[in-house]
Amino acid sequence: MDIAHPVTSIAAADPLGAVRADQQRVQNVSVDQKEGCQSCEWRYWCAGGCPLVTHQATGRYDVQSPLCGVYRALFPDIIRLEGLRLAQQEGIGNRE
Ligand code: SF4
Repeated sequence: MDIAHPVTSIAAADPLGAVRADQQRVQNVSVDQKEGCQSCEWRYWCAGGCPLVTHQATGRYDVQSPLCGVYRALFPDIIRLEGLRLAQQEGIGNRE
């Protein structure tokens, strides 16, 4: 998310462990812990948005994204369009 400030490198023995242990750079707080997200129906698709963007806008990692309104507006249409795409791919609903 913030490639200008790397936490570790692929050469490290446990790069994923280093990312998990880091408390100085971008923090990836669980969506269930983000203020404003706990009861959102889209939380397990959205995850509260990009933590870097949220931190840049609010100074916090544990709050909902400043783009929340965009996500809530787009998710229903994206899911409907994906459903239509899958139905078309499978030939469901075709009239021949
Ligand atoms: S849509 Fe908004 S409230 Fe819902 S998980 Fe995303 S940021 Fe949080």
